[in-house]
Amino acid sequence: MKKIYCDISATTPLNEKVIDLMTSIHKSTFGNPSSIHKYGQESHAVIEKARIETAKALNCHQEEIIFTASGTEANNIALEGFVEPNNHIISTTYEHPSVMNVIKNLETKGAKLTLLKPNEDGKIDPKKIEKEISKNTKLITVMFANNELGSINNIKEISKIAQKHKVILHVDAVQCIGKFPVDLNKLKIDMMSLSAHKFYGPKGVGALFIRKGINLKTILNGGGQELNLRPGTENISGIAGLGLAISMAYNNMKENMSYIKKLERLFIKELDNYKIKYILHIKDRLPGVLAIAFPKIDGQSLLISLDLKGIAVSFGSACSSGATKASQILLDTGINEELAKNTLRISFGKIHTEDDIRYVAKQLSIILKRLGKKFDA
Ligand code: PLP
Repeated sequence: MKKIYCDISATTPLNEKVIDLMTSIHKSTFGNPSSIHKYGQESHAVIEKARIETAKALNCHQEEIIFTASGTEANNIALEGFVEPNNHIISTTYEHPSVMNVIKNLETKGAKLTLLKPNEDGKIDPKKIEKEISKNTKLITVMFANNELGSINNIKEISKIAQKHKVILHVDAVQCIGKFPVDLNKLKIDMMSLSAHKFYGPKGVGALFIRKGINLKTILNGGGQELNLRPGTENISGIAGLGLAISMAYNNMKENMSYIKKLERLFIKELDNYKIKYILHIKDRLPGVLAIAFPKIDGQSLLISLDLKGIAVSFGSACSSGATKASQILLDTGINEELAKNTLRISFGKIHTEDDIRYVAKQLSIILKRLGKKFDA
């Protein structure tokens, strides 16, 4: 059976060149990067090369990058390491749990929290952020692009507001790295988290950008690696994989993005050709990420039917009992419960061919027909 993975926002497969690099490092570069001997120096050099590659891609200084074990860990280190008990934090209702659960935990320790809902366009209004700033506001943490909607926040505007009011801005950029250029010299972000497995790098490796001058408390205690913020013997091959993956993502950004946008247009055209009724929730969004509703069709059932045809997509959220539940993120943007339950996230990437896209659209049309819920556009 043909298998097509259309869940690029959840994770990406490893790039072949990244696999080769990591395999060669696994085989030959095993010294402890903290050891003084040649073996250690070789491993240390691999990590520093990746740091240079990451800093070059993001246009920041290499001393401003620390490697972590995930995007989740980067978010934890930034937020817990910065916030003091009486600080006011401004964030959003649709942050990833690796931000949301940290700030909720900080709230139990005395921090004050203001959570803003996205607008209908899936974005956070920068003016609403500015309105909430008070003298105790020390941190704004807003995701660059939302993982479920693909909507992109106006981080440039938010960073200007943060600067104006001397508030630190942390950005969870896990979803957008590799999907559009993020230039830290132009954008006055203070801390930014990323994760290699979203841009064809390995799982279990992330990075945190910490602008010079920002001091974080140590939340993990150990041997002092990574500015004593992420102690523990480094994942040498994973870090090297992140470095190569981010370099490739930035070097080929234009071509990849225009290719993915072309695939997206083809998909929409195919849906129209099959006269499938659909609603695309967000207009201005990450290339290849579609939060798309098929009215009157239960999203979870559609996901399972597609999976049986070898096509992997994703559905907003499912509660622990396994029953489907409308995604709160979709509800927060004003989408009604019924339509939220009809919504899937389909995400395409550079791995797909035009034939893949045609196949997905065709299978969708067959399944929707079988479910007896196909409507004229
Ligand atoms: N932040 C966002 C927006 C994400 O989408 C994800 C992963 O899906 C994470 C953080 C967590 O990254 P990681 O899987 O590397 O822990």
